[in-house]
Amino acid sequence: MRYAILSDIHANLAALEAVLDDLRERRIDELWCLGDIVGYGPYPNECTELLRSCKHSCVVGNHDWGSTGKISISEFNRDAADACQWTGSVLTAGNFDYLRALPEVVERDGFTMAHGSPRYPIWEYIMNSEEARENLPYFKTPFCLVGHTHIPLVFHQGKRRVPVFRHLDDGEEIALGEGRYIINPGSVGQPRDSDPRGSYAIYDAEEKRVTLYRIPYDIAETQQRMRDEGLPRFLIERLSQGI
Ligand code: ZN
Repeated sequence: MRYAILSDIHANLAALEAVLDDLRERRIDELWCLGDIVGYGPYPNECTELLRSCKHSCVVGNHDWGSTGKISISEFNRDAADACQWTGSVLTAGNFDYLRALPEVVERDGFTMAHGSPRYPIWEYIMNSEEARENLPYFKTPFCLVGHTHIPLVFHQGKRRVPVFRHLDDGEEIALGEGRYIINPGSVGQPRDSDPRGSYAIYDAEEKRVTLYRIPYDIAETQQRMRDEGLPRFLIERLSQGI
């Protein structure tokens, strides 16, 4: 089986379409989504529907529940809260119900998926080796997938070795060996590692290999639609720089 791992689409349709285009030639059996389908971006319904049209498993992100009122957005910064409110006002009833019903954690084929972390699925950011290590007791599978930081990275805790925690570059392959891994595929729709291209990964279960891909997309198109919808200026500008 081959799985495409997508996270933090953030209602960026051009970015999602570019990733799905790239997947067409890559023989994918199922799509795994790590949450934040909506929030920030201008196409929440289109992105949710496109994801729902694919065979997929998905966990919830803080923006998915923030936009549907299932969690409070009082902890969100001003721009994120404004975008959540706008998103909630335009979601169709079907997409609203779909997002509200998403689970916090899913296990599939040796992986545990959670948006932020297995310990605190909605809110925690795994930003360093220490935070990754603290999360190891909170999942039973050998491997874990998270999103939320919008930065592609791998954490590996081998049996006797010093743990590894590092950024993943375009085209990089991780051969899954002994020990435990936490992998973040980066963000499809709002990358924050100074590379504005969309980010996603593929897991090949037979080869036990995860590969990271960066995909260019029409950033200007997404930005224009954000302007048309009156979304916050910083959210528009950051897409050009990938910050
Ligand atoms: Zn996000």
